[in-house]
Amino acid sequence: MTRKEAKERGLTRYFNRKPCPVVHIAERKTVNGGCVECRPIHNAGKARELAKARDEILRGAVIAALIEAGWMEIDENGELRPCATTNRKNQG
Ligand SMILES: [Zn+2]
Repeated sequence: MTRKEAKERGLTRYFNRKPCPVVHIAERKTVNGGCVECRPIHNAGKARELAKARDEILRGAVIAALIEAGWMEIDENGELRPCATTNRKNQG
């Protein structure tokens, strides 16, 4: 789902499967397109939290690459699974 679609549907959050700038695979806020995972980290403002998050993110980056390549996908429940659909859409 794109941010535009989310806006049209009046949703506060949407999920476009694309990693955020720090490679979270998380929902985005419709209001600003921001990653919902990023916000708690920024609010905490703790370097250790960030370092810990980065470890998670590195794992996420691998997953993101797999998703990008079309080998894995995130289902409706946010669970990672091998890509079952062959008719994946190529979004610009
Ligand atoms: Zn993020």
